[in-house]
Amino acid sequence: METAASSAAELRTPKAEVLAIGSELTSGQCLDTNSPWLSRKLAEIGISVRWHTTVGDDLNDNLQAFRIASERADLVVSTGGLGPTLDDLTRDVLAKVANVPLELHEPSLSAIERMFAQRGRVMPEANRVQAYCPRGGIMLPNEHGTAPGIWLETPKTVFVALPGPPREMQPMWEHEVVPRLRQRFGPTGVTIHRRINTFGWGESQVEEKVRDLTRRGHVPEVGITAHEAVVSLRITARGSNTEEAWKQIEPIEKVIRERLGTIVFGVDEEDLHDVVARMLHDRRMTIATAESLTGGLVAQMLSRVPGVSDNLRGGVVAYTNEVKRDWLGVPQELLDRYGAVSSQVAEAMAVGCRTRFGTDLAVSTTGLAGPGGGTPEKPVGLVYAAVAWEGGVRSSSFLWGTERTQIQGRAARMALNLARLYLASQLP
Ligand code: AMP
Ligand code: MG
Repeated sequence: METAASSAAELRTPKAEVLAIGSELTSGQCLDTNSPWLSRKLAEIGISVRWHTTVGDDLNDNLQAFRIASERADLVVSTGGLGPTLDDLTRDVLAKVANVPLELHEPSLSAIERMFAQRGRVMPEANRVQAYCPRGGIMLPNEHGTAPGIWLETPKTVFVALPGPPREMQPMWEHEVVPRLRQRFGPTGVTIHRRINTFGWGESQVEEKVRDLTRRGHVPEVGITAHEAVVSLRITARGSNTEEAWKQIEPIEKVIRERLGTIVFGVDEEDLHDVVARMLHDRRMTIATAESLTGGLVAQMLSRVPGVSDNLRGGVVAYTNEVKRDWLGVPQELLDRYGAVSSQVAEAMAVGCRTRFGTDLAVSTTGLAGPGGGTPEKPVGLVYAAVAWEGGVRSSSFLWGTERTQIQGRAARMALNLARLYLASQLP
């Protein structure tokens, strides 16, 4: 019997290069969001992007970039450089690379003129150049702007030139490019990603448990990424259709969950605050926050979730010892004996917060975000978080990081993770 993996491998996989054009990108003024977007979209239709290139608005540099791309890739998708101004060179570059002249495309000229007429304006002469197409190319209509895209094939390479602004480029991609790519490259299959998100272990600790799955050549592919203290396993499966790709993902996801246990908290785009908010909602429970070094970040993260107002009652930013004592009822004696950065104070903050707000749960954070204030016993990066419930409290700590916002982000997630672990044991 043919397996999913072998039939996927037999699919022809065109190699693609994405070219981002514009001096605003190479100079760092504008972030290139088109290339990652296009890579994801190409993967969805089974075309793997092997190279990203970014090039400024210079004729020779563009010629070189397009030539290099066309030598190594079957498909070159560019964005930018299709505007009406002198620094917009993509049309000329395509014509030169394909060794064909530029010709006026009357329907595009009419469309551009119409677009101006709709806005009550006469088309400036400069926009005329946007109606020129390299001979043999196809103009791709632009529903949201004046610059048409261009589809141009040479014996070796398919070129797709798209406008730079994402709101023009993206609909053109969906409506004009995807159907043509499917036709041109035939059934290339689908690629599906599944992300399993974990919190609590370091990247290498997670990897140790799944090393056999992350080795090169494993089908499906499993990769590890870390972002804001969340370590994610990314499963990438290719198949001739969605069902076939899912069949590869399901057993691997099961294995990963079995090996990693409770550190797995969610999938795909889910973050800890999403999961905690959902669990609170499902159990009809309420929460409040007492935050020192995170300055309200835990409450802010929870507040991002629509509908959380039924569950999040409020919070206190308890930066100073006085606020910890007077607002949260942390005994002065604990502050004197253990210091504000201690498990004892973190727990007292959570307990006091829960009483004060009358909630089912409360979480707290306290620690040293730096850069100043560290001592040999209590260095920068030392953080305590706690969760309190009726009749109980638990804290945990970490010592990690050097950069202030990183430490704060991780501390906030640690507090949310404690709430998650508690809630997971309180199944309705
Ligand atoms: P252009 O087609 O070169 O005239 O591009 C016009 C505008 O599109 C630029 O000023 C940017 O705001 C935007 N843009 C161009 N390339 C990109 C890119 N790679 N990612 C995001 N925005 C872009
Ligand atoms: Mg430009």
